[in-house]
Amino acid sequence: MQVCCAILLCTLMVEWLEKTSSSHAAPLHEWEQDSTDVHRIHTGSHEFTYWKNFMRHTRTCDISQKVKTIVYYCDLHNHTKSESIHVETVHSEGHS
Ligand SMILES: [Zn+2]
Ligand SMILES: [Zn+2]
Repeated sequence: MQVCCAILLCTLMVEWLEKTSSSHAAPLHEWEQDSTDVHRIHTGSHEFTYWKNFMRHTRTCDISQKVKTIVYYCDLHNHTKSESIHVETVHSEGHS
């Protein structure tokens, strides 16, 4: 008798847990693009040579990464999330 009750209670518990967890897992967000921001991150420098007036010149070129950050805002829960996208690698001396 007691065992039966325990099993029944257990089944009910599992059912209840499944119900609550599935309703929690539903990702019901309303993400809306809030703002975008483009910034550069300096990642290093290197030397490169070029020819000008039959002379060999050496210059230092700074390398930076252009990163775009998009901020999303969820009106339902009043929270934000952000996403960063690498746009391009920029060389300060503009060489190829
Ligand atoms: Zn949300
Ligand atoms: Zn460069």
